[in-house]
Amino acid sequence: MSATLGTMLKQLQPDWSIQVLEKLGDAAEESSNPWNNAGTGHSALCELNYTPQKPDGSIEISGAVKVNEQFQVSRQFWSHLVENGDLPEPSSFINPTPHMSFVWGEGNVEYLRKRFDALKDHPLFEGLEYSEDASVIRGWAPVLIPGRAKSQPIAATRIAAGTDVNFGALAGSLMKYMEDNGAQITYDARVTNIKRQKDGLWRISCRREIGLAPFDIYARFVFVGAGGNALNLLQKSGIPEIRGYGGFPVSGEFLRSDNPELVARHQAKVYGMAAVGAPPMSVPHLDTRVIDGSTSLMFGPYAGFSPKFLKSGSVFDLFKSIRPHNLVPMIAAGTGNLSLVKYLVGQLAAKKSTKFAELQQFFPKGEEKDWYRITAGQRVQVIKKDAKKGGVLQFGTEVVAAADGSIAGLLGASPGASTAAPIMLGLIETCFPDRIEAWRPKLIAMVPSFGKKLSDDPALADSIMTRTAQILRIPR
Ligand SMILES: Cc1cc2nc3c(=O)[nH]c(=O)nc-3n(C[C@H](O)[C@H](O)[C@H](O)COP(=O)(O)OP(=O)(O)OC[C@H]3O[C@@H](n4cnc5c(N)ncnc54)[C@H](O)[C@@H]3O)c2cc1C
Repeated sequence: MSATLGTMLKQLQPDWSIQVLEKLGDAAEESSNPWNNAGTGHSALCELNYTPQKPDGSIEISGAVKVNEQFQVSRQFWSHLVENGDLPEPSSFINPTPHMSFVWGEGNVEYLRKRFDALKDHPLFEGLEYSEDASVIRGWAPVLIPGRAKSQPIAATRIAAGTDVNFGALAGSLMKYMEDNGAQITYDARVTNIKRQKDGLWRISCRREIGLAPFDIYARFVFVGAGGNALNLLQKSGIPEIRGYGGFPVSGEFLRSDNPELVARHQAKVYGMAAVGAPPMSVPHLDTRVIDGSTSLMFGPYAGFSPKFLKSGSVFDLFKSIRPHNLVPMIAAGTGNLSLVKYLVGQLAAKKSTKFAELQQFFPKGEEKDWYRITAGQRVQVIKKDAKKGGVLQFGTEVVAAADGSIAGLLGASPGASTAAPIMLGLIETCFPDRIEAWRPKLIAMVPSFGKKLSDDPALADSIMTRTAQILRIPR
């Protein structure tokens, strides 16, 4: 997020001085690290949680259209940078990987058929295919079928336009662009406090993780892009807008296989249905991952609970985030989400073999010897005040900004990295409203659809999707 915002600001206002403070020794070692997230270019091509079934049985597609629109903004921003030589060869961070949804059981098959019917004619979902035929599905993803009972009803959708994104490589390249253009990036520097001074500047206090004395820097504008730790730092800033917000950390694990024979047999991201009580981001999926030139498979995530707000955080993070103003929302969100708590406890207690059985629901002939566990990133879900319920748990992301726009941060986790560009454009509009007119030509050069909705303009959608596909070398 910080790398995206910093790059945008460098493009819009090259004379501004920008400083990045990162507590770890390199960029993108937390959630944006390629092995800490699933690398799905989230565009709702396959993720079923964006298309819930309504009580009348019809499918709600507005969430899917929104996420797809957002990803098209990211594609445009990355294309602009690639075209100008500000990002390297696209395959270093984005690779074509078909996106599939795969379900079993009569009810789920009916749901997927209806979802396909609801999306197939939408301009942003052009090319979506559907099948209930095992031989067709086997052609799309060979490992899904052998070992499965012939009597089991199954269905899948597939779209070639899906992508696998190495968000770590992307963040590293954006940081390099910023540094090459005058930004100062300081690693091993942990921000410990953020306070407003009488002169209106923000004082950012830092501690060196390695050697050297603490130091302060002063800024007119601060973006708290600290991932799971943003809540804590925004609380320290004392802005009233953060009052009532809390965080609920969810940890995770993936299974990974580098077995070349298996990797060669599966080239897709295959998303299934979430288990009852599971948070939407715990939908299981079997993924091709392309990282630093080599391909692996990944399955998961298996959710769990840890009170840390970052993978490298402290077990006191959750406890330290509790304030009088967020106590009621946090208790209400906890008691209102007992099925989630039950699900997480169940996942924590689950035996290795039970977890592997989840993989075998996708890949019946999968063998434990080919897979090993890796720890995923921490996600801190947003808890916020709710007039009726006292507090609610939210699964999206949310920008929290001071009324004068001098400080802002991003809470929440999903869909996250895929939508960093539209989220940061929104933040720019919130925090720099008086500059937007002057910046508009450059904003349109970076994102040609800026200010427009692609779903309202199929011709524009077609030309933009075709163009970004050519530049990023991914299917249309
Ligand atoms: C299991 C899992 C799967 C996911 N799958 C996907 C996916 O498939 N597609 C997708 O688009 N998104 C996915 N996401 C979400 C995505 O990873 C995140 O939304 C995104 O990486 C967040 O980026 P960020 O810059 O906000 O946070 P981060 O990448 O976590 O960066 C925050 C940075 O702030 C630093 N920091 C924290 N505190 C301080 C401090 N006090 N001082 C200095 N530095 C500090 C950290 O060290 C870190 O480098 C997934 C997330 C998880 C956990």
